[in-house]
Amino acid sequence: MRKQIVAGNWKMNKTLDQGLQLVSEIVNMVQDEVHNGALVVLCPPFTHLQSVVHLTKGRTNVFVGAQNCSDKVSGAFTGEVSAEMLASLGVQYVILGHSERREYFAETNAQLAAKVDLALANGLKPIFCCGETLFQRQEQDYKALVCEQLTESLFHLSADQITGFVIAYEPIWAIGTGLTASKEQAQEMHLTIRDHFAAKYGAEVAASLSILYGGSAKPSNAPELFANPDVDGGLIGGASLLSRDFTDIVKAL
Ligand code: PEP
Repeated sequence: MRKQIVAGNWKMNKTLDQGLQLVSEIVNMVQDEVHNGALVVLCPPFTHLQSVVHLTKGRTNVFVGAQNCSDKVSGAFTGEVSAEMLASLGVQYVILGHSERREYFAETNAQLAAKVDLALANGLKPIFCCGETLFQRQEQDYKALVCEQLTESLFHLSADQITGFVIAYEPIWAIGTGLTASKEQAQEMHLTIRDHFAAKYGAEVAASLSILYGGSAKPSNAPELFANPDVDGGLIGGASLLSRDFTDIVKAL
């Protein structure tokens, strides 16, 4: 059985105090109200990670993730944070390849492959993001473009490394815009992604992938998105900053 996951990507939001308040609320609500076996992954800014790890210690369904890591092992790379450093804090997940990193920080598929390797080498589980722009959806072969992101960053991995991997399909036109992929659009892309992995690694490995949907997911649309057979949860941006909304999305799984 593949894992059902709701991950919250806080991006560059919340001071430490505000973040810890949010974590406390989510941890209590998730504990009291969610008994569906879903995993919750909280991805605050780097500065908050150690405190959030501390606050969530001992919770069996709440994990902590970073929003990025360096593609270098260590050394003279001012401002960078390595996968090894994250692992040393007790962080378990790391978001890689988010469209904002690809766009604003020019991250390439090849660089992301190096980040994935370092994350795995340090025992971190990547939440690997892929997705197309509105222009690509309307004018180009968007399915092929998304598959290319996956091929170039992940297909050097072994079947063992890919088993249980977490992918986040995030149509860029739906991130932070209020536009959500329809139930059908989400299922079509999630199945395309699973089939792409099946062609390389076989059906069993493809079936083990958790493929999350991201893009303006909220309590009102989460139930229909999550009802799709190939949607295994969500990567949530804006709605992860509100404890009630985030918990309601977890409950929708
Ligand atoms: C995201 O940035 O990963 C995301 C899904 O954002 P939002 O939910 O705000 O669209």
